[in-house]
This record gives sequence, C-alpha cells and structure tokens, in this order.
Amino acid sequence: MRYHSTRNRYLAVSSAQAIVAGLSREGGLFVPESFPQFTLKQIATMSGLPYSKRAAAVLGGFLTDFSAQELEACADAAYGTGAFPRAAAPLVKVGDAHVLELFHGPTCAFKDFALQLMPHLLTASVAKTGSDKTMVILVATSGDTGKAALAGFADVPGTKICVFYPSGAISGIQRRQMTTQTGENVMVYAARGNFDAAQSGVKRIFTDAALAHRLEEKGLAFSSANSINWGRLAPQIAYYFSAYCDMLAAGSIKIGDKINIVVPTGNFGNILAAWIAGRCGLPVGKLICASNSNNVLTDFISTGIYNRNRDFYVTASPSMDILVSSNLERLLYFISGQDDKKIAALMQALAATGKYTVDRDLHAAIKAQFWAGFANDAQTAHTIKDVFDSTGYLCDTHTAVAHKVWQDYILATGDSAPTVIASTASPFKFASSVLEALGKQAPADDFATLSALEAASGLKAPVSLTALQGLVERFEEAIEPRNMEQAVAHWLGL
Ligand SMILES: *Cc1c(COP(=O)(O)O)cnc(C)c1O
Repeated sequence: MRYHSTRNRYLAVSSAQAIVAGLSREGGLFVPESFPQFTLKQIATMSGLPYSKRAAAVLGGFLTDFSAQELEACADAAYGTGAFPRAAAPLVKVGDAHVLELFHGPTCAFKDFALQLMPHLLTASVAKTGSDKTMVILVATSGDTGKAALAGFADVPGTKICVFYPSGAISGIQRRQMTTQTGENVMVYAARGNFDAAQSGVKRIFTDAALAHRLEEKGLAFSSANSINWGRLAPQIAYYFSAYCDMLAAGSIKIGDKINIVVPTGNFGNILAAWIAGRCGLPVGKLICASNSNNVLTDFISTGIYNRNRDFYVTASPSMDILVSSNLERLLYFISGQDDKKIAALMQALAATGKYTVDRDLHAAIKAQFWAGFANDAQTAHTIKDVFDSTGYLCDTHTAVAHKVWQDYILATGDSAPTVIASTASPFKFASSVLEALGKQAPADDFATLSALEAASGLKAPVSLTALQGLVERFEEAIEPRNMEQAVAHWLGL
C-alpha cells in the first residue's frame, strides 16, 4: 500500500514514510492509494477476537510495510490491561443506542486509541526508513491531546516529548494530568497566553532551520503527534469494526446489516475514520456529524459552503471548539475522485479567504453519506440530564452533543437503523459541566467536584483522575511564548 498526498496524487511514499513525515511537503495530507477490503466473512471471524487482535487485523490492511507480528505486538502493548485495565472499547446499550465507550484509556478520552499505539508505530517507522535518529515530539495542546501524547510517549525508547499548554486556559485536572506525568523523556511547560500563542511558538520551532541543524548534529529530529498524521487516524478505524463485531456477537444485528454511526466532531478525524471503515467493507448506513455551537461542519454539510469567518464560542464541549476541521481535506480528496488540483485550490481559498464552496456533485455525494446537526450548551446539558433520568446512563458533554443530534436525526428522517454513538470522553473528565447539567452546583475544587459527581451519579470516578490528587507536580515552569525555542534547546542540551 502506497500513500499519496491530497494535494499531489503523483507522490507515493510507504506507510512508514507517511508516519515519519506527518504532513506532505506541499502541505497536503497523506492518504492510502486504495481501501483494503474486509469481507463479511472476515468481519464475522474478527468478532471472535479480542480488541487488540481486531485492531491489528484492520491496521494490517493499511500498514503493509509492517508484519502481522509487529502490528500484533504494537496493538497488544497499546491496548492491553496496562493502559486499558477494563475492556478497550466496550459497547453499552443505552436506550435504543449502542454507545461505543472510547474513554477507558489512561487519559479518559478517545485520543488514547491513537496515542497509545502511535509511539510504537513511529519508532518502528523511523527504523524502517533507515534512520537511527531520536524523535523529538513537540505538542501545543488546548487540553486533551497533550496528556494523551505524554502518556503514549513516556519512556518509549528513541523518543522525547515536550508539551506546551496555555497557562490559565485549561482546567486544574487537565493541568495536573500533565504536570504530574512520569517518564525520563518528557518535559512540560506552561506558556503564558492562549493556545494560539503556544501553537505559533511550536510552529516557529519546527521551521527554524538553524535549530534543525543543531538537532541533527546531536542525532535528533523533530516530529509531531498532530491529529493529521496518518499514524493517528489509522488506529481509529479499528474501533468501528470492533463495535460492529460486538453487535454481531450480542445478536443486535445480523451479518451484513447496516449501522448508522454518530460522532461528536471537531477536527473531523474520528468521523473520517468511520467513513473509511465503511469504504473498507464495514456495512455503514448514514454517518451523523454532531457539532457544538461552533457548527461550521453542520453548515458545510447542509450547504456545501465551508466558512470559518464566524464567531468562535468557548463551549462545555471544548475538544470540539474548532473552526478549521483539517481532516475534512481527506474526505474531499476521496469523494472528488482524488482530484488533487481541486483540493489544492479549495485549501488555498480557505487559507486566503477563510472559506470555500464545493461544486454541486461533490456536495450531493457528501450529503448522500452524511447528515449533520449541532447542539448548543443548554441543549447539551438538557440531554445529559434527560439521558441520565431515563436510562441511568451518564455521558460527558461531547457525547451528549452526539445524543442530541441523533435524536434530531431520527425526528427529521424516521431512520431507525441500529446506531452506534461514539462516546469520546469520560463524564468525570468534564465533571463540573456534567454536575451542573444534573442540576447540582459544582464545588470550586476539582477533586471535590469529582466526589460530588460520584455522589450524584452513583458511579466511581476513574482512578487515573482521582489519583492525581496525591501526585507530585514535576513541571511548574511557566515561560513566555517567545522563549519557547530557548527552553527546548536548553532541555535538549543543545
Ligand atoms: C478530540 C475530541 C473530539 C473531536 O474529535 P475529532 O477527531 O477532532 O473530530 C471529540 N471529543 C473529545 C472528548 C475529544 O477529545
């Protein structure tokens, strides 16, 4: 399997090269040249396997320069009981919905599926490309990604990782998740200012040729664990196959029945993985794209016009507060029939004017496969309470957005196909919003809030969150964004 770029279909690299490079040189995203096909018989066989074996089987179709043995070893390490003490991706029946719980990993959000596996894929990929460099991962985070990346890369040989978070702009729990991170190869800084300042700082470091040269002399090279890296997308395809397998095993569907999938969406990575699963032979009906008040995707799917020139809202589902959904570029590439010139032109328009319009055929093809809706914070809170009162199931704010949009979809279409809702975070990760949705006041202290939510729900908070209270904060340094480069050089001993 070769990989092309969304902006240059004549480029061809291996999966290992695509993972090491992250982004193609002309700015496009790496995409597989074709979709590996899984027959219904293969899917039925997969349903007898544990999660890590299902994941290795799906990954094997895409990462063809890895042996089956290598992928199984990577998947066992990533999804075993060390990182996922309970089942990796359990499917829970909630009312008529099948909720795919993707939050049982070390950081309590779905990004663990990619970031527990990707460090192993990256180091193996570096070796396959004939390099012996140590990869230095730099991450600017607005919350969830930083911790998931730290947890994935901590003490992985051949890597070092440095995370910058905006001081003051993340929750106390999120800060502690990062500042208490163990590992010899990790570093965490608070960057004064907002997320954009931290992100610009990281971009500056990546593009500094003099620094890259000093790095090279030490046998080091920068890399990113950004969500546009193919190594982050590929692991997410597997859990949709896994959900289907579990529905088969439970007798909820017969082999070949189509399922709808609802995904709370920000950067469009998670829902794109569901679409790709469908292209690989998984029987998928409609994909339902759920947004919060930053509903740029809802508008795009209904009108064919993508326009980021709009107000930005800080919402109760912050991991979806995004106005540029980078992974949409991959969908447009495939649906346009791999028209790399068209994609390059659309993305240029987006960069220059903040908007683009797709032609009628492309829009019609998208509408045939996707349905989109959004929920504001009040509707989200109402849904959390409603689902809890009627079923006893507690969902987080992101998952509640998906529930609400699914209800709207059923009202609009009457489509009652069996449905999987991707649940992307533990309710305890967004405990104060969830507690308030249940009609309770959230205490000022983060750990008191966890206890209050335990009391209100009768559930136990994940140990990885409650245990933070007793851990030492190792990283307390706050720096100015303009000094980020100096900080990285100092940390690496350059
Ligand atoms: C990252 C994230 C999302 C959005 O996923 P995308 O792949 O960016 O669409 C949704 N929910 C949670 C909890 C997240 O952390």
